[in-house]
Amino acid sequence: LEANFSAIQEDDGPMNGLITVLHDVTEKEKIESERREFVANVSHELRTPLTTMKSYLEALADGAIEDKEIAPHFLNVTQKETDRMIRLVNDLLQLSRIDSNDYEMDLRWVELGSFLHQIIERFEMVVKDKDIVFHRHIVKQPTFAKIDEDKLTQVLDNIISNAIKYSPEGGNVSITLLHQGNKARISISDEGMGIPTESQDKIFERFYRVDKARARNVGGTGLGLAIAREYVVAHEGEIWVNSEYNEGTTIYITLPYSTFKGGKV
Ligand code: ADP
Repeated sequence: LEANFSAIQEDDGPMNGLITVLHDVTEKEKIESERREFVANVSHELRTPLTTMKSYLEALADGAIEDKEIAPHFLNVTQKETDRMIRLVNDLLQLSRIDSNDYEMDLRWVELGSFLHQIIERFEMVVKDKDIVFHRHIVKQPTFAKIDEDKLTQVLDNIISNAIKYSPEGGNVSITLLHQGNKARISISDEGMGIPTESQDKIFERFYRVDKARARNVGGTGLGLAIAREYVVAHEGEIWVNSEYNEGTTIYITLPYSTFKGGKV
């Protein structure tokens, strides 16, 4: 196909139409194969918790229900799997709304420093099962951005939950807000397992996980960062990762900002 392309491009005029057609066909095939892969992924992601639940329920039905030690544990497993399926289906619905542009941005001026303080405070209150220490480095000057608070909260929740999930016991999680040129930059750093270089570009793709088994154990859906990227882009921002394998991970987000409410961003 490539050889054809160069031959066609040497001609002017009428053959240009053919270039477009060939291009359209490959683009269509790409979309179609992505769609098939997506459906396969969804099916697999739903089948895994269903299979687990089925075997635990069978064991309960076969008598484990009489065992006062085992029964609560088995029920707990099925509950956890149900929760994960609900999260997965919610994430899928959300992505489907994003894809078909079926959502609205409720943009309001928000001071990002206090917004971040609030989010961190909430995590400090609820994270009890792991001994994580949060550090805040928030720029002194005000940082106003026009954001959809719910959506950006979800973005940060996903990223901070990952930082916690993939951190060791007693790990430090640092959240920084600074001004970088005409952008406000938020970063979330952890001292966790890190992400190998070859995977760093892929973590924002749907269902991509560095270690599928481990990610599932910690309850992930593989969609958190894909949703985060969509929402950051909808805010005219950027998101990227910098990570050192076995040392830690930092996720960066930049957003347009102003030092006062209603300013030009
Ligand atoms: P998941 O629900 O599996 O966490 P995400 O979309 O949030 O899905 O993240 C995709 C993958 O990126 C994760 O499965 C994990 O492999 C990797 N990842 C994300 N954040 C971190 C982090 N802070 N440290 C190490 N790996 C991470």
